[in-house]
Amino acid sequence: MKLMSRPLISLAFTAVVATPLGALAQTQHAHVHGQIKLDVVVEGPTVVIEMESPLDNFTGFEHAPRTDAEKKAAETVIAQLRAADQIFRIDPVANCKLGPVTLRSPALGLDKTEGEPSEGHADLDGTFAFNCTNAGAAKFIDVGLFTAFKGPRQIEAQIAAPQGQFKRSLKRPNERLAWSK
Ligand SMILES: [Zn+2]
Repeated sequence: MKLMSRPLISLAFTAVVATPLGALAQTQHAHVHGQIKLDVVVEGPTVVIEMESPLDNFTGFEHAPRTDAEKKAAETVIAQLRAADQIFRIDPVANCKLGPVTLRSPALGLDKTEGEPSEGHADLDGTFAFNCTNAGAAKFIDVGLFTAFKGPRQIEAQIAAPQGQFKRSLKRPNERLAWSK
């Protein structure tokens, strides 16, 4: 089984290398306020959503919470994102249940092991895993980020699903991320 996974890894690597340099640079400096990046992978019985976002999109600030109001705002955001099945509503046909959620934001005291670039900006990233009885049948996710938070205006998404690989851009208020009819 270990040998089987090797071609997959080299394939993924080739895909990264083949990415035009411009796109790669964009990926590395993707901190644009109002924008959220989502990577959706539908594989086997799971749907995994990787999210990259400026912290500002959720809290309106990008530093460790100072005032009581900021602390409360941060706690609310964290609770909302942890209840990820209310934010990411996967096509019911896939019959998914929320699994592990990992949030990363050194500014908010989450995952301090990751270094935080000290240029006055901070991120709040997350990994949201769902376990499904029919993951491969999923054809869309209704993404509630625009409804739940005021900051996000645009979502840039990449989807890797049994139907293929897709790139999608969602602008507020459109929340349906669909990759197959
Ligand atoms: Zn910023």
